[in-house]
Amino acid sequence: MQLDLLLTGGTVVDPSQNLHEVRDLGIIGDTIADLSNQESYKATKTIDVSGLIITPGLIDLHAHVYKRHVPLSIDADATSLAGGVTTVLDAGSAGSYNFAGFKHDVIDRVETEVLGLVNLSCIGLVAAHYGELMDDRYADPEGVVETIRRFPGQAVGVKIRASAHIIGSGQQGWDNFLKAVKAARDSDTWLMIHIGECPMTLPEMIPHLEPGDCITHCFKGGSTTVLNEDNEVHPELIAAKKKGIIFDIGHGFGSFKWEVAETAIAQGFIPNCISTDLHQMNLHGPVFDMPTTMSKFLHLGLSLDDVIDMSTTQPAQVLGRAGDLGSLKPGTVADITLLEQHTGQFNFTDSYDQIRIGGCKLTAAGIVRRGKLHLNSNRLA
Ligand SMILES: [Zn+2]
Repeated sequence: MQLDLLLTGGTVVDPSQNLHEVRDLGIIGDTIADLSNQESYKATKTIDVSGLIITPGLIDLHAHVYKRHVPLSIDADATSLAGGVTTVLDAGSAGSYNFAGFKHDVIDRVETEVLGLVNLSCIGLVAAHYGELMDDRYADPEGVVETIRRFPGQAVGVKIRASAHIIGSGQQGWDNFLKAVKAARDSDTWLMIHIGECPMTLPEMIPHLEPGDCITHCFKGGSTTVLNEDNEVHPELIAAKKKGIIFDIGHGFGSFKWEVAETAIAQGFIPNCISTDLHQMNLHGPVFDMPTTMSKFLHLGLSLDDVIDMSTTQPAQVLGRAGDLGSLKPGTVADITLLEQHTGQFNFTDSYDQIRIGGCKLTAAGIVRRGKLHLNSNRLA
């Protein structure tokens, strides 16, 4: 068998196949090759990745990459390579008025696979600091549905930032929230809800959600958290997770609190997905990238396999792309991440300036995107 690229000596960790072992990984074109039953194979290019972990390409389920249009946004390719990410879900940077621009200027041009959620606000996050739904004329549920129909495969769901200073309080907040729910139902997609200091409680939100809908920033601090006044995870949220509501980290500038994460995880409440909410304000700390965020969950006691599952296989399922992304099964797209695991003492800071010292840190050594190798250092070259 003739391969284009062969990675040898690495430890393949692929939760989609329950794999955790040293084995070769071959690529033909933009696809993972089937090396089982092959007595011999040769490759145009062979790289020894001994000591590295080979995972399905990391999927960041929450970031902002509408560069040059939305002030907070970052460059998809530069940050993806640095962070070992091959697929990014942009969480509502664009709305119905500017999603076509997002597709034209970002999705169609970058190497990274970029998908987008359509913000209920027609202008997306262009002027996010003013609160994109404080003027309720900006709420455009019909436009969201129309945008999702127009860009199938790229506009994959709906986003609302459900903080009182963004969607309004009282009835105005509820009206905006219910418009976002309706847009998700009418477009046959799903809703990602950013929880901030919400105009309603999380248990009040839950009856409006369906399996596949997602609560991001799930380990935030502040007044709206997953914990009740007895410091226990709301039973309604535990039931919702069992029912198929997705809980996502979305670390961000203000949305990850060590105490909340420690308390919830001690009670067995493990989120579905790890994501960064990477943007200009947290790229240089406390978030940095996906591997740093994943390392925080190793420190919280989750296994390497679980942390990789929450960053590859599970987000692929959320995106409805499990047959394609988040897996190293033969025949799937050759999106691969090479991770390096360092041991030592590392400071990990949450969004509230609290530090924990962890003993293990992951970094991205490189990625393969659609069969093409990109390395972060010359070490492997
Ligand atoms: Zn965000």
